[in-house]
Amino acid sequence: MSATPPNPLALDILAVAAHRDDVEQTCGGTLLKMAQMGHRTGILDLTKGEMGTRGSAEDRAREALDAAKILCVSWRHALDVPDGRVENTWENRVKVARVIRETTPRVLILPYWKGRHPDHYTASILGYEACFLAGLKKLEIGSEPHRPFKIIYATLYYDIRPTFVVDITDQFEARFESLMAYKTQFSDQEAGSGIFPAHAEIRARVEAMARYYGMLAGVTYGEPFLQKEVGLVEDLTLIPVKSI
Ligand SMILES: [Zn+2]
Repeated sequence: MSATPPNPLALDILAVAAHRDDVEQTCGGTLLKMAQMGHRTGILDLTKGEMGTRGSAEDRAREALDAAKILCVSWRHALDVPDGRVENTWENRVKVARVIRETTPRVLILPYWKGRHPDHYTASILGYEACFLAGLKKLEIGSEPHRPFKIIYATLYYDIRPTFVVDITDQFEARFESLMAYKTQFSDQEAGSGIFPAHAEIRARVEAMARYYGMLAGVTYGEPFLQKEVGLVEDLTLIPVKSI
């Protein structure tokens, strides 16, 4: 009789996104906050960023690790799905399902399922379907079957009313710093300046978004999320966010 040894890769919360820096832009403050509360957090990037206008995939790998350190993330990995060509194929679903089984997260954060960039909304559906696969007992893709208990969607890239907001007032500066760790993408440069605004402009945009979602929840800075399920309440007197 021997107990199963604890899984050294086990995470409480895993965020999956199409591109390196998506997590920093949409839910980095939340990941940092969860790590500060003692949860083990992780990031799975589906692509390595080889199609980016600036910097190589190697530059982005280094920057992604710097950003992960700032967000106190325990685990970060990038799959080899082609950048700009994230497709919801069997092969890709299995790749993500393997990671879900290996890291056994209770909570999975996915991108919202609508958006401008096809990689983003495809990553959302791909991630959801990978969760389903990961739980199939008869599917032999290594590791024990596992499904996250909760799947939530980071909606910051899309204009939709979130079902809840995480207060990231205390994490906002570090979250912005984690984004700035992508020096090849965000430092003031000439190349591709039409797509990549200067530092001050990015700061203003990121701050405006975080302020807006914070305002909806009555805090200074917030990050928006959507859940498909209803909320469950035990005590009406403890429901946060003022009505009037
Ligand atoms: Zn992206």
